[in-house]
Amino acid sequence: MTRIDALLAAGRTRSLEFFPPRTEVGHRNLAATLGAFDQIDPAFVSVTYGAGGSTRDLTRDLVIEIGRTHHIPAMPHLTCVGHSKGELVALLEDYAAHGVDNVLALAGDPPADGSDPGGDFRYAAELVELIREVGDFSVGVAAFPEGHPRSTSLADDRRFLAEKLRLADFGITQFFFRSEDYFRMVDDLSALGVDRPIVPGVIPMLDTGGVRRFADLNGAWFPDDLALRVDRANEADRLALAVDAAVTLCEELVRGGAPGVHLYCMNRAEAPREIFASISL
Ligand code: FAD
Repeated sequence: MTRIDALLAAGRTRSLEFFPPRTEVGHRNLAATLGAFDQIDPAFVSVTYGAGGSTRDLTRDLVIEIGRTHHIPAMPHLTCVGHSKGELVALLEDYAAHGVDNVLALAGDPPADGSDPGGDFRYAAELVELIREVGDFSVGVAAFPEGHPRSTSLADDRRFLAEKLRLADFGITQFFFRSEDYFRMVDDLSALGVDRPIVPGVIPMLDTGGVRRFADLNGAWFPDDLALRVDRANEADRLALAVDAAVTLCEELVRGGAPGVHLYCMNRAEAPREIFASISL
């Protein structure tokens, strides 16, 4: 089974997010993680895409290589802001020709300096519609439990998210640290008549500075106390603290009915191996 919509329909999934490495060390980390797949046993992985296409070929090549070498569905992320319709269609056709069945459809962020990114698209929902025209992909979209930072209000964001999910097959969330934020979003969507599976994204608190920066960018709540304990711990305890906190969150999510867990693993194997060994999915 290689379609993520089918995997989610069949049971809870465990999955990982990768990014295409650019350094020698980065390649070694990723190779070690791919080599640990028999212990981590992911149902699928996803591979990020640099906004505007900065990792276009790296993302494509990694997705195709993982699918071919590890026989695990690898889902490319794809952003539409700044791209022409022709560019996106060409990439999607290439994915279809290589047997890629899943795509995560994203808007991407506009340039930080406020300049016009150009391109034919503004919102992820438009990309979902394009993907449907091009091929028979299983299509995922992004969800922000605490609301997207550019949204005019949480209610507006939920409305747009509901519309986007109606066109797509499933969602994957930005990372968050309080299970109630996830369940509130699921309840809000249910009240809007949408019950597509939304896989929660969970990040182990290892690189505290990086996680804080990303949480700030996304307007997400950040657990200062956990970060402080991790910062003060030695190397071995740091991993244990990060894993324990992630396991607690994953267990709450799974108990509450989440359809799986997607780990932001930063291409590393240690935390996913321990987290997935500790929770029953
Ligand atoms: P959209 O769903 O289009 O929403 C963007 C904003 O527009 C929201 O505020 C929404 O409320 C609002 N909106 C939506 N529709 C409308 C409308 N019709 N009218 C007015 N407002 C509207 N970025 C990358 O560059 N590369 C990646 O690989 C990547 N992977 C990601 C993976 C996940 C799981 C997540 C959660 C995010 C990822 N991102 C990635 C970040 C994402 O591209 C940015 O957060 C981007 O700003 C929003 O993308 P979106 O797909 O949620 O956009």
